[in-house]
Amino acid sequence: MQHVKIARIFADPQKHIGKNVEVKGWVRTRRGNKQVQFVALNDGSSINNLQIVFDMSKFTDDEMKQITTGASIRVTGSLVESMGKGQVCEVQAAEFEVYGTADPLTYPLQKKGHTLEFLREKAHLRPRTNTFGAVLRVRSALAFAIHKFFNEKGFFYLHTPLITASDCEGAGAMFQVTTLPLNNLPKTEDGQVDYSQDFFGKPTALTVSGQLEGELGATALGEIYTFGPTFRAENSNTPRHLSEFWMIEPEMAFYDINDNMALAEEFIKYCISYALDHCKDDIAFLAKMYDEDLENRLRFVVNSDFVRLTYTEGVKILEESGHKFEFPVYWGADLQSEHERFLVEEHFKKPVILTDYPKEIKAFYMKQNEDGKTVRAMDVLFPKIGEIIGGSEREADFDKLNKRIEELNIPMKDMWWYLDTRRFGSVPHSGFGLGFERLVLFVTGMTNIRDVIPFPRTPKNAEF
Ligand code: ATP
Ligand code: MN
Repeated sequence: MQHVKIARIFADPQKHIGKNVEVKGWVRTRRGNKQVQFVALNDGSSINNLQIVFDMSKFTDDEMKQITTGASIRVTGSLVESMGKGQVCEVQAAEFEVYGTADPLTYPLQKKGHTLEFLREKAHLRPRTNTFGAVLRVRSALAFAIHKFFNEKGFFYLHTPLITASDCEGAGAMFQVTTLPLNNLPKTEDGQVDYSQDFFGKPTALTVSGQLEGELGATALGEIYTFGPTFRAENSNTPRHLSEFWMIEPEMAFYDINDNMALAEEFIKYCISYALDHCKDDIAFLAKMYDEDLENRLRFVVNSDFVRLTYTEGVKILEESGHKFEFPVYWGADLQSEHERFLVEEHFKKPVILTDYPKEIKAFYMKQNEDGKTVRAMDVLFPKIGEIIGGSEREADFDKLNKRIEELNIPMKDMWWYLDTRRFGSVPHSGFGLGFERLVLFVTGMTNIRDVIPFPRTPKNAEF
């Protein structure tokens, strides 16, 4: 008999009813009496458990004893329409096998209703809970939607390096990568660390962004995207920051800032729609458990036109709002998530794309505006999240870019290869970065970014 996944059965019960099936999974609960017992079986393919009915005239109490919460079993039997409420179909068990027991006295997920904080301490087992099963399936669907979106548009998937020798990617503090013995560092004559003896013969670090290499791809293949892990050694213990997170970074030749904004809006709506269409049960479960308004909010974002305005206009609205913010707001200030969320949730009640930020608070590679003060940056701001995308049109002019690099004292030894894109066949181009976990946060309605990645890395936490 062929093993069938529970999600396949629920996708088309009529196809399987009346047939013999073999199912395999983990026991969620067992209840019943001397005549009949019911096991709720989950195999991870769906939020929905399959009910297995054990006619106790065919099974002994001794056999059943091992079927406890968390145990893994294989069951064969016929799939029948269910008489009981709450399920369309169920399996009448003919025969079963226990793969692995789970001692009720020590299995950490024995009880239901653990807090998310408790489950963070049990991150190695939490995928077996309903909540994390749902989140991880939505996460997987979103990853697929991302590749599908770009593939349909003719973008190429470019793999950019995770280890980099430039310490000026411009997006944050870096984790050093070295094979030098830290308790006995080789030194040069003047007492500095002798990196010529390090693995790469120079200092290296984990990347904070694939963008600079992405630009090399875009100025050759036209339209590319990266989708990979990035690392930031910042001590930011917030519900929106991870030390290791995944980022999607499209980079497009011949796009100006307006093309860039249009792509970002289309892209994010596509991903959310995909999840609404393909993760109905999981999203409905998360809505029921955590956030009644979730589905409405997702649909609302898909159906609204994002507001576009400049940073200068945004700051004016915030200053005139009379609202008391924890962090002061003035022209030149880097907006905090409380400011971003005020614009989105209180003022416009829609996603907002803010453009033309002061050049001092943005990276060196952004295209400089005529006013000499601002750059063609764009941040997409979302309800509940704040910044979900950061991007810009890039400075394509060699002299302007070079001058900015000098002003900021960025070492040219790191930058010569990047400047070659402006030296040879430079083109107007743009790109942005979407923080994957922030998208998953938004779509699942979870409130802490540690709960939307299987194995979160945050300051002082890399256990599992
Ligand atoms: P923030 O201001 O929220 O710290 P940022 O401006 O440093 O973000 P960018 O360098 O613009 O972020 O990165 C692009 C996108 O990556 C952001 O819009 C956000 O969605 C995501 N992102 C940035 N830092 C983190 C992080 N530490 N953890 C998870 N996602 C992040
Ligand atoms: Mn940003």
